[in-house]
Formats: sequence, C-alpha cells, structure tokens
Amino acid sequence: PPPLLQVRDLRKHYLRPQRWLRPAMPAIKAVDGVSFSVARGETLALVGESGCGKTTTAKAVLRLIEPDAGSVQLDGQELLTLSAREMRLRRRQMQIIFQDPYASLDPRLKAGAIVAEPLRNFGSGTAPEQRERVQWLLARVGLRPEAVKKFPHEFSGGQRQRLGIARALALNPRLIVCDEPVSALDVSVQAQVVNLLMDLQAEFGIAYLFVAHDLAVVRHISHRVAVMYLGQIVEIADRDPLFTAPLHPYTEILLASAPVPNPHLRTRRLLLQGDPPSPANPPAGCRFHTRCPIAQPICATTVPALGTRPATTQATRGEHQVACHFR
Ligand code: SF4
Repeated sequence: PPPLLQVRDLRKHYLRPQRWLRPAMPAIKAVDGVSFSVARGETLALVGESGCGKTTTAKAVLRLIEPDAGSVQLDGQELLTLSAREMRLRRRQMQIIFQDPYASLDPRLKAGAIVAEPLRNFGSGTAPEQRERVQWLLARVGLRPEAVKKFPHEFSGGQRQRLGIARALALNPRLIVCDEPVSALDVSVQAQVVNLLMDLQAEFGIAYLFVAHDLAVVRHISHRVAVMYLGQIVEIADRDPLFTAPLHPYTEILLASAPVPNPHLRTRRLLLQGDPPSPANPPAGCRFHTRCPIAQPICATTVPALGTRPATTQATRGEHQVACHFR
C-alpha cells in the first residue's frame, strides 16, 4: 500500500513585496524540491535552523500555504489538484497543532465550543452526541470537565495546547501536522505534552509530521528525522542512526551545537560559521558549501543528489539518505 503521506518535489517560492520596485529581485525559495513520506502511525520530524523551510513545508502539505509545484498524496490520492471543497473534506483526516495555541484559539469561544467546532462544521453526530464527544476529548487530553465553560485566557499555556490537541483530535484524523507544538512551553510542561502526543499515537495510530528545532524533543518523539537546509532536505534517516551516526556535515554540526551533549559524537566542538545564506540567492552547487568544514572545489559547482547510503546501524524503518559528495 502507498504510505499515508507521500510528498514529491514540493516547491514554494515567495515573490517579495518590494518586487515592484526592483522587478529583477529573485523570489525566496522557501521550499525547493522537497520529497519525503510518512507511514501510518509514524512520526517524521522536520528539523533545521529557522528559515530553512520546515514550517512552510508542513503548511504546504495541508495547503494552508498553496505550493507552486510538486505532489502531495494522502493514501495515494493527490491533494494539490483537489478543489477547495474537496480539500476541505480531506482536511477531516489532516489536522494541525500550532506553536502558539493562544493565537489559534478563538478568544471569544469557550473551550467546549472550540472543541465542538470541527464536529459542527462536518456535521458529525447529533448535538447531544457532540457534547458527549467534547467531554470525552477534554478528558482524554487531561482537562477537567469544568474546562468546557472556560475561555482560552483562563488556561495555562500547557492546558491551551491540550485544548488545541483535543480540537485536532475531534474528527479522528490520520495525520496531525505539529508545528513547533511545545517550543512555547516550559520544559516540564513540554514533556507532558510530548508524552500525551505519543500516547495518542499509540492509541489511535495517528501519524505526525513534527516540525521542531529542539533536538531533545525530536529525539524523544520521532521515528525518522529529515534535516532541512535552505529549503531542501539534506539528510533523512531513522532517528537512532541520525542521532548517533549522522552523515551530512550540517547534521553533525546541528547535533554538536545542540545544548544536550551527544556522547556518541566526537567531542570536537563544531559550530556553524556565519548566518545561513539568503534563500533568495542560494549558493550554487551544494547549498551548504559556504559553511561546510570539509567543502572541496566540486561542492561549489555540482549539486549533490540526495542518495541512499548503506545502513550504518540496524535501521528498521526507512533508508539513510544524504545529499553530500563525500559522505
Ligand atoms: Fe560539504 Fe561538499 Fe558535502 Fe556539501 S557536498 S556538505 S559542501 S562536503
């Protein structure tokens, strides 16, 4: 069977607002040829520095941002050619949890109405059935029954994120896009919310496309990890080989500069030099060559393809793919 989600050669370029002043101004290549798949019940994390295109990729999968080109298939069905109405129906199965639940919850609605909204929109069940489902959902995410009558501002950050999860869960989705779902929360609360997401996955077989920059969280929750740099995936592998034996120099540096020290990596302190180049004018050849510690002349001229490498550890799920001439 096809994977739950199959994304091929996804592209999203933004024209910049000042473009009318200088028409030659190049578009920002936020997502530039991204391909990956997510299996049923699996968590694929998208990681990388801010501005690498991970959030744009996640939103383009749901068509919350309309991609320019590529293919997004859910269960073998192409989503990018669906009409707005058809896409709305497909969204039943694809939900999103945002970084800042406060911004995504209507402040004028009580929690009960917020969680009931998707049920009402899709005419799922009678009014009493909907009320019962809302109570069940709130309890399932760890909120008390009284929460039904509270407004978003009356909850803590962690509780608001639980509310966002209850709403995302309402229609039994098969895929939830999690856009930095815990980065705005205190560390102790982060662990609770991540564990809740993992419990829900085990119980309902939900797949997550998990966008995050916190590698400790990613290491805890994901089955596979895709590393993005300047709008492209540079490495994609199962979690353990990626964290213990990364192949791409960018992944190595990302892991080595993370606050949680990784005992498996060589102790030499690696730090990224300088800011990432502009996605409007990405470097020719390998996009990482301007910051890569092992770059060679070929890197500045020839684009390395994302290719499969032999498994370095006992990989069980996916292949280990990397885009580098020398790895
Ligand atoms: Fe570095 Fe060259 Fe590999 Fe790019 S292709 S990551 S510049 S060694």
